[in-house]
Amino acid sequence: MTPARILIVYTGGTIGMMKNAETGALEPFDFNQIVRHIPELRLLGHHIDNYQFAPPIDSSDMTPDLWVSIADIIRERYDHYDGFVILHGTDTMAFTASALSFMLDGLDKPVVLTGSQLPIGEMRTDGRENLITAIEIAAARDALGYPRVPEVSIYFASHLYRGNRTTKENAEKFNAFASYNYPPLARAGINITYADHIIHHPSPGHRRLTVHRQLDNRVLALTLFPGIRPELIENVFRMPDIRGIVLRTFGSGNAPSKPWFVDALRRASQAGKVIVNITQCQSGSVEMSLYRTGILLSEAGVVSGKDMTVEAAVTKLMVLFGQNLHPDEVRRQMETPLAGEITC
Ligand code: ASP
Repeated sequence: MTPARILIVYTGGTIGMMKNAETGALEPFDFNQIVRHIPELRLLGHHIDNYQFAPPIDSSDMTPDLWVSIADIIRERYDHYDGFVILHGTDTMAFTASALSFMLDGLDKPVVLTGSQLPIGEMRTDGRENLITAIEIAAARDALGYPRVPEVSIYFASHLYRGNRTTKENAEKFNAFASYNYPPLARAGINITYADHIIHHPSPGHRRLTVHRQLDNRVLALTLFPGIRPELIENVFRMPDIRGIVLRTFGSGNAPSKPWFVDALRRASQAGKVIVNITQCQSGSVEMSLYRTGILLSEAGVVSGKDMTVEAAVTKLMVLFGQNLHPDEVRRQMETPLAGEITC
């Protein structure tokens, strides 16, 4: 097969950071540093170009505008490359992967996000393996020459996950990410083993890539806890500038059944706010018909986020509201899988 053409987009993150000699803090550095530390990149046999954010950022500074920049970089160069590798800090990587999965409508090429827990210059870095394997995955094609993983994914610590199913779960260990409600798309051992049957493939004749560039960040995520004060709920749900609320509920989607709570949610729904029920549990799905407390939420207009991650729910709301849809249409689409983020 002909060598694959891969574009690496370096946004920042630990993988490319270096210690500031004065403060000792890790700060983003130049992409050439990365290449200098992985000369093997040249041996992969692919045609690799890179694009560097100026300046590279710690991913805690990620914003919807920067997601648009990443999506634009991909769109403008879409025909020139077979796959894209996005180097990104781990802290908000799951948000970026989720956002891109909803923004890149009609995607039929691999977009693999990766990064590392230790900078590339450190002896025990995990960045080298993560980057090399991410490139291999972005370049992988089947016997007919089609990409093996034509969706937005995260490769980290020997696992390839669907991007919008992934959560950062560990700030210490090399395996920083988990995908609780969807199995890995691939595992890397001596060989890379792909779970082809669960990888999304575009249907024949699907439409060309279009990018949803408008994102509306008038959304918030609220974690419930026993003892949450009525005044807080009242104020949050009345905020005029909020259009969508991800409500992080208990268990299978339960919340207090007290009238002050349910009424606040009902009033907010009637005022056009979209409230999405996402469980605080790491795995499993919201089932609002199971308990009376869940049924009350449904009656108050709350929609089920099913087994979506918080990252997917927040970014999906931003992308849907960015399209100026009616709240009822946003509610409908929040319950519908758009990019494999919900188990059917
Ligand atoms: N703070 C860093 C970032 O997210 C952490 C990392 O890259 O792992 O940019």
